[in-house]
Amino acid sequence: MGILEKMSLAGKKGFVTGAARGIGKCTAKAFAEAGADIAIVDLDLETSLQTAKEIAEATGRKVIALKCDVTSEAEVQAMVDAVVEQLGGLDFCHANAGICINAPADEMTYAQWKKNLDVNLNSVFLTDTIAGRYMLAHGGGSIINTASMSAHIVNVPQPQCAYNASKAGVIQLTRSLAIEWAKRGVRVNSISPGYIGTDLVLQSQTLIPLIEKWNAMAPMGRLGKPEELESICVYLAGDTSTFTTGSDFIIDGAFTCF
Ligand code: NAD
Repeated sequence: MGILEKMSLAGKKGFVTGAARGIGKCTAKAFAEAGADIAIVDLDLETSLQTAKEIAEATGRKVIALKCDVTSEAEVQAMVDAVVEQLGGLDFCHANAGICINAPADEMTYAQWKKNLDVNLNSVFLTDTIAGRYMLAHGGGSIINTASMSAHIVNVPQPQCAYNASKAGVIQLTRSLAIEWAKRGVRVNSISPGYIGTDLVLQSQTLIPLIEKWNAMAPMGRLGKPEELESICVYLAGDTSTFTTGSDFIIDGAFTCF
């Protein structure tokens, strides 16, 4: 069997959170292109339905859309149950939903801090443990979490202490689960993207003016594209990465190298 065949996700079933648009939409499409059936999971059902239709038409795979607030334990449990029922199982997932609320620490409200931590970190605990429980009981699986280069560096000039702390937490959660589940067939890894040109950046009135400054600091002089994160996620979801767990993959065009 050749390497491309070994990397195929044919017969596998998975879900991606925050998949209506952006990075999640892109990895969901890549998983489907690699042969998997996929659930598009997001707060925004209308866009998710459109995304699911687009990916199903482009790939011929079964692609469903599920509305879910990843900060709600009950909704995440219902979503995982629906994935298993509608797709017929669960082999991998990508916990990717996230937000970025920037404010100087001395002006940040506790509510803003908690919202950032809730959507970016507590949701990953819920998604990973609820999906993980199913995988542990059904022969194993692979979990991919979206962290960020902000887990490794403090971005400047924008003040984003809550985002940075939440993403650092995602990496340590990933490593902790990887160790707990290493002998039980469930692998847990994370990706740490650099600045990527998605709505999170391109539709944010506070972030748009900073793009030129980031590009001036970036060794490659540009933002990354969501497509530049696809193949690592397909690798992590599939069976050529069976010795890879507890790892974080920084994909940032060398932004964090200096
Ligand atoms: P995006 O804003 O384009 O997409 C995020 C999606 O998550 C949206 O569809 C949104 O509806 C959904 N979402 C938000 N809150 C949710 C909730 N409570 N429940 C369910 N869905 C919810 O963002 P993106 O750039 O594609 O970011 C995806 C992930 O990548 C995030 O975790 C983000 O922190 C991370 N990331 C992004 C960048 C970047 O520069 N864009 C860099 C590093 C890491």
